[in-house]
Amino acid sequence: MNVSESAIDCDVLIIGGGLVGASLACALEDSGLSIRVVEAVPLQSQVQPSYDDRTVALSWGSRCIFEGMGIWAILADRAEAITTIHISDKGHFGATRLRNEEEQVEALGYVVENRVLGEALYQRLQQNSRLRLHCPARLVRIDQQGDAVVAIVDENQTQQAFRARLMVAADGVISQVRDMLHIGSSVQDYGQSAVIANVTPGIKHNNTAYERFTDAGPIALLPMTQNRCSLVWTVPTAQAAELMQMNDADFLLLLQQRFGFRLGQLRRVGSRHVYPLKLIETTQIVRNRVVIVGNAAHAVHPVAGQGFNLALRDIAILSELVAASPDVGDSRLLQTYVEQRQHDARRVYRFTDSLIKIFSNNYAPLGHLRAAGLVAVGLIPPLRHQLARMSMGLSGRSSEMGRRAGRV
Ligand SMILES: Cc1cc2nc3c(=O)[nH]c(=O)nc-3n(C[C@H](O)[C@H](O)[C@H](O)COP(=O)(O)OP(=O)(O)OC[C@H]3O[C@@H](n4cnc5c(N)ncnc54)[C@H](O)[C@@H]3O)c2cc1C
Repeated sequence: MNVSESAIDCDVLIIGGGLVGASLACALEDSGLSIRVVEAVPLQSQVQPSYDDRTVALSWGSRCIFEGMGIWAILADRAEAITTIHISDKGHFGATRLRNEEEQVEALGYVVENRVLGEALYQRLQQNSRLRLHCPARLVRIDQQGDAVVAIVDENQTQQAFRARLMVAADGVISQVRDMLHIGSSVQDYGQSAVIANVTPGIKHNNTAYERFTDAGPIALLPMTQNRCSLVWTVPTAQAAELMQMNDADFLLLLQQRFGFRLGQLRRVGSRHVYPLKLIETTQIVRNRVVIVGNAAHAVHPVAGQGFNLALRDIAILSELVAASPDVGDSRLLQTYVEQRQHDARRVYRFTDSLIKIFSNNYAPLGHLRAAGLVAVGLIPPLRHQLARMSMGLSGRSSEMGRRAGRV
């Protein structure tokens, strides 16, 4: 393997150009800083782990951040609005509905295919000469120095050194940056997996997102463009293997039994994929000129569609702090980032984790309490409003980027 003689200098080096790394690069577009993104797998590859067949439910707050970044204009036509969220518990009376009019917003959120989001972000990455993407290229070593981080990257069989004032690790759940820096993480295995697929309903989805809790785990059916629905079906991991092996007709029949007929007779199901679910929390998200973001920092259960939305709020604040600082890797800046963001992360862990624990429990009295809770949320406007704000990604301190869109 060749080794390049000189190091490439840059202000910010982002390892991982997945949903979070690419969004951060776009958020820093107008900062005047030189940004390099190192991504191992090309966008068009079938094995790209971030831009795969999943969809992402973007909260209203995330739409505002993307609008502030100038990304929303590219995405808007290919995103489906969620105007109602319908939450129910199978086998118990009681459901609640959150509606956009009550919150006085155009939509509570939007559903976008990961690949579509990837195309929009990469389109932006390629338009600005201060943003440089190295792909396919892979981080192989890190050397933290006093006033810089040096990363050795393998690109086209050549090892190239990058010297950055700040390195951002956006390299996913199995983060090599985390490992190389010996930063630990706590892992809580839910023993559950999410089976995802696109489903064609028998009737119009009417921009309603359904979240149905069942004794075997939650089922989310989210509205997509062309009257499709995005299914995220969480089941115990052993059952996920069975669901993956079923033929389409049996799969749809079982889904229909568990979900019911709110979307009419379910007609078609596309290719299925399975994701094991864990709560992963990194013990330290900053270390001497390095920040860890996205799944590398915290991976949460997708039950409430919070993971990417949380990461986007993180990077909106990070990019503002970085853009305003004379030294982008300054330790006080990194500390301010931690202080401003840890509360939101904790709230999201608590929210998703308790949803799973409360709704995965078959203890009968708890089932009645749950049903009562859903009825209460449905009947009491302040409770409904609070839940809606959480789903809309609006309950923490908002970023300037989100406020710029003038809607939060
Ligand atoms: C089933 C499911 C449904 C979900 N639904 C939602 C939802 O509706 N709403 C929501 O907000 N969130 C949702 N999430 C969470 C969301 O998918 C994650 O938050 C998001 O994918 C995290 O992106 P990331 O860029 O941090 O990590 P990743 O997507 O894992 O990307 C990491 C990138 O780093 C690259 N990489 C790794 N190592 C290296 C290296 N050494 N050198 C160079 N590059 C490297 C990889 O190739 C990859 O492109 C869902 C998750 C799941 C599993």
